[in-house]
Amino acid sequence: MTQRLYQGIEGIFDATQALRSMKGTDVDPYMKPGNKKDGALGARGIAAPFASDKLHEECGVVAIHGHPDAARQAYLALYALQHRGQESAGIATADGQHLANIKGMGLVSEIFTDDVLAKLPGQMAIGHTRYSTTGDSALLNAQPIRVDSTKGLIAIAHNGNLVNLGNLRSRLERDGAYFQTTSDSEIIVQLIAHSSAQSLVDAIAESLAQVDGAFSIVMMTRDRIFAARDPRGFRPLSMGRMKNPGAPDTIVFASESCAFDLLRAEFIRDVLPGELVMVSRVGVTSRQFATGVPQSSCIFEHVYFARPDSRIFGRWVQESRDQMGRRLARESGVSADVVVPVPDSGVTAALGYAEEAGLPFRFGLIRNHYVGRTFIEPEQRVRDFGVRLKLNPVRNLLAGKRVVLIDDSIIRGTTSRKIVRMVRGAGAAEVHLRISCPPTISPCFYGVDTPTKRDLIAANQSVEEICRFIEADSLAYLSLDGLLQACQTGENIGYCTACYTGNYPTEWVDVEEILPAAVGS
Ligand code: SF4
Repeated sequence: MTQRLYQGIEGIFDATQALRSMKGTDVDPYMKPGNKKDGALGARGIAAPFASDKLHEECGVVAIHGHPDAARQAYLALYALQHRGQESAGIATADGQHLANIKGMGLVSEIFTDDVLAKLPGQMAIGHTRYSTTGDSALLNAQPIRVDSTKGLIAIAHNGNLVNLGNLRSRLERDGAYFQTTSDSEIIVQLIAHSSAQSLVDAIAESLAQVDGAFSIVMMTRDRIFAARDPRGFRPLSMGRMKNPGAPDTIVFASESCAFDLLRAEFIRDVLPGELVMVSRVGVTSRQFATGVPQSSCIFEHVYFARPDSRIFGRWVQESRDQMGRRLARESGVSADVVVPVPDSGVTAALGYAEEAGLPFRFGLIRNHYVGRTFIEPEQRVRDFGVRLKLNPVRNLLAGKRVVLIDDSIIRGTTSRKIVRMVRGAGAAEVHLRISCPPTISPCFYGVDTPTKRDLIAANQSVEEICRFIEADSLAYLSLDGLLQACQTGENIGYCTACYTGNYPTEWVDVEEILPAAVGS
């Protein structure tokens, strides 16, 4: 494949400007989630498949402190987090004096070959895998972002979306800040650079307290690693440790704990909402930069984004999904012969549903895991070609059966309709679709790429109308209460449910995007 790599070595930062001119375009720095046009045909006959009817993962971040081959550990951790973003990836390392940074477009394994990793020396590393949610998806905005500031060299990798970035950016530009990217993550670094606080850690804490929205970030200077979560704890961020006999532990941070397993690191704890953790040669210290804000962790991480083998927000994702399926079976069970998941994300909830309903669980749809990001369409247009490329029915399991199909969401409805048709086309006698969360009625402003309200089918149609549209025999969603119970909301965990309720935990909302669709649109 053709790779575009950007290597930043201390003191050489003109490459960013060069990339800007190479692209020959200035993108809107305030581009909203949902403005991307996925699934559109590019060169004739080349299409990006399936992207249009699923919400996109946001980003994954990792950090390593105190390992002789920190870059390779970051690579492995990013590999485990690839599901959180596939557009670009980057790793920055520090050896106590220099800070190197390499990033590229594509998958982690495509970008970081042995040769590339050899150019990243040092005992500290931060890494990022990205699906663009703010700023464009080009290499220019790939992370880590490295800035040479008045506080020294800082590299940052960010998961989430800031919501007050417009005001902050113009204020910083009035104060003389020069932005090298259009990414909101750079705003945090510029705030740090322009802070009047004496120490770096004070400057970071002061800057984080000024930004609103979702951020789980890792930062690195020449000799320290920092990790922080926004006061509401929207996105996950966990801390772990690798034991080194006769030497200090390697401290690791990752968006999801599944990354620790590949490193053979043990989970220590989550970084707390509003907490800033610092790791240096002298050990780990921590401080709260914000307190008293109710937690609103993203419940959709449990529904769809995070891997079931991860433990996030103090709870195993597998457990939550299993409970979603069980509650769905109790709330809206139906007479059927077999439970079939829409792979992969529907699998765990389907297992819970089947067990609770006392029905057999079968892999009646097989997913092709080797479908690339683009494909060449056949000369003659084939109905539902895109979804057929990715999923194929197992006819002998479906023929003549009353099927309960389990999926995790309906966004525009078009993919669900194709899947229902596929199952029916394989001979199913009945197709009942069950969704393991409530109807998605509002866009997300906190780092998840959601269509606008106009394109969310549940924002504009009743459950009965959606059922007719997708051509199912019946359709039911898990209730909001059922979802909250499945994820064990309560004294210790609070969740954001804005995409199901329209009640946003921050003040900022984009009025245009929460407007219902015009009648008839
Ligand atoms: S709006 Fe939905 S997807 Fe966005 S943070 Fe809240 S729960 Fe998660």
